[in-house]
Amino acid sequence: MTVTGLQTPLLALLLLAVMAPLFATAEGSRQTPAEAFRRTTLMFLRPGMTDAEVEAYAEAFARSGITGVLIGGGRHHYLHDDLPFLDDYAKTAARVVEACRKRGIAVAEHHSVVLTTREDYAREHAAWIQRDFESGEPSVWPEYQTWAFCPNNLEFRELYWKIASGLVRRIGADALMSDDTVFHHGCSCAACARRWREETGGDIHEAYRQSRTPGSEAWRQWHAVRRKWFTDFRRWLLERQRAELPGTACLALSGNALSPWGGQTHGGAAEGSLDTADIAVWEVYNPADFYSWRRLSVEAAVMAEAARVRGVTALLLPYADTAQSRDVFDPEEEVFAWGVGQAHGLPFALGRVFLTGLTPEDAPRGYFVFERDRLSRWLAGGTEPHAEAAVLFSRASRDLDTAWEASHVAPAIGWAESLQDALVPWRAITEDTLDRGVPGGVRVVIAPNVFALSDAHLDALERFVRTGGILLATSRTAFFDGEGSSAFSARKLRLEALYGVSLREPGERISGPVELAHASAKEMDAPVRALRNRVGRGSVIYLPEEPGQQLFQDFQNEGKPFTDPRDLVLSAKLAQMVRVLAGECEVSLSLVPHSPALTAVRRAGSDLLIFYLNTAGADLPPGSEVPTPSRVDWKRTGASLHLRFAREPRRVRVVSLDFTESRTLDRPGKDVTLPAPRRFALIVAEMP
Ligand SMILES: [Zn+2]
Repeated sequence: MTVTGLQTPLLALLLLAVMAPLFATAEGSRQTPAEAFRRTTLMFLRPGMTDAEVEAYAEAFARSGITGVLIGGGRHHYLHDDLPFLDDYAKTAARVVEACRKRGIAVAEHHSVVLTTREDYAREHAAWIQRDFESGEPSVWPEYQTWAFCPNNLEFRELYWKIASGLVRRIGADALMSDDTVFHHGCSCAACARRWREETGGDIHEAYRQSRTPGSEAWRQWHAVRRKWFTDFRRWLLERQRAELPGTACLALSGNALSPWGGQTHGGAAEGSLDTADIAVWEVYNPADFYSWRRLSVEAAVMAEAARVRGVTALLLPYADTAQSRDVFDPEEEVFAWGVGQAHGLPFALGRVFLTGLTPEDAPRGYFVFERDRLSRWLAGGTEPHAEAAVLFSRASRDLDTAWEASHVAPAIGWAESLQDALVPWRAITEDTLDRGVPGGVRVVIAPNVFALSDAHLDALERFVRTGGILLATSRTAFFDGEGSSAFSARKLRLEALYGVSLREPGERISGPVELAHASAKEMDAPVRALRNRVGRGSVIYLPEEPGQQLFQDFQNEGKPFTDPRDLVLSAKLAQMVRVLAGECEVSLSLVPHSPALTAVRRAGSDLLIFYLNTAGADLPPGSEVPTPSRVDWKRTGASLHLRFAREPRRVRVVSLDFTESRTLDRPGKDVTLPAPRRFALIVAEMP
């Protein structure tokens, strides 16, 4: 290990120890933000609630095992709209905080920083409003019909901080969650124009015009600057909070780490939130969750990894599927989404009904109580993903993809979906993972057309191969550097030595089949053209053509026809190829008869944790309509679940959401067969 490699994690740990606030609970013990918000709900706080109503809410939270509450909602969500009424809000909020604290529940003040619907207020502060590039006028956020203040306006920042910090102090909140500080409208305001001139040089209007050509240097720079500005604002907020509200936690709304939406439209990439908060709240927005389980599960794995490497927590918050059905939902779909989060190590946040969360009228949430009473003893000490196969998800390739998701993200999801469908244990890794090297236990890394890759990350992959790992690289992997400039000339000899081929000049394209002048590597018996090349103690398997698009099923939406364009035969064959390459796994899983299921393997100390979520009912006949609201079909297939362990476990416990399925098997041998759980189960294998 190099000196730098040793210093980074230590430094990160020290910083965390200094920075992470600790809350006092009712019992007087201290807990971290992650502990405080491990079972979270939103709460629509109605000013003027009676003490009895406040108590009823707090009691309902406690009955459901909730540990953290995000308060706000209604008019208050647009903080500036609520300014004339803030006194009423604060009085009630202070009582909510008190009632929650008595029960050991932490409270976060939650609102949008920049949005307002008040025309008079927006006009009064016209200089602070984000402006449209085409018209130069204050622009309206189309989804919400709101104006948005510009986070680059320093006067606005100060005003916001004065309001928000005053509010947190007054109500005694444990945490602050500040939403929406992205550059949705451009922005061409005077503050942005000045900042562009000072930091980048030149005129922002000219830069905007040039940035309209995807893939151009101006386009790349434009979005890189917006991601930086978003992160800078968030960091400013975090530092103010650390300095002026010590002991409170910083929560950040986040999009998902796979969509180019944030990084290619308004600057709000997931990493900007994860880098600047104790807890990122991942808003899962719009899909029919159950029918979208394949992609949703892959996104959850990537979010969890992006959070893990930073030592922060990401909450999974499924949001209103559609505006039409936001007040109507299938409670079992909430159970399902909670299960997706558990499988990947993401705590759940309940908010499905438009910022409403749990109310005293609702039935207690059984899955939270189950988590508290039955699961937490296995998860409390922290868990890590465990798999012999890994898929590399590149944020550089995501943000530099001129074909939206088609070049890297979609194929990468496709590979992961194939492994997932075949129950091959897999884990997500990112560039941030590679900063510390490929995780121990991983034998195969799949790099699905990771066309943009920095020198340092290419080094990390090559080190992995030379010390015995298998890299499965496809198409134009590493043809460009981490900023999207062609690195082909500089790396030609190195890539040829790694891939075992002679490459023709590939041009500037970031995807598509690669023409080979010659191949010295060995042709494999594989479902697509694959060349195997020994490198050091390991090998590189090179696929000149990226097959992942044929493996990719996207989100499904309510009321729309169910679509699954995947080549299922190819998907199964490629998964089998990876299974063989990965060799004997700590645990191998299969369902007889085979059916889809979400499985994930994690590790806690010497225990192997196998998560199972039944998705057998999520495949509809092609073209049939996805239900509105989306609802879960816990289809019973009568399948049995086989687990084959590399070493005999001392004990295997099934901890099922359906209690009658729970059981304990002492010295069960290497092969264990169980009825496939009806909904969700954690199978704990205590290893010697
Ligand atoms: Zn601006």
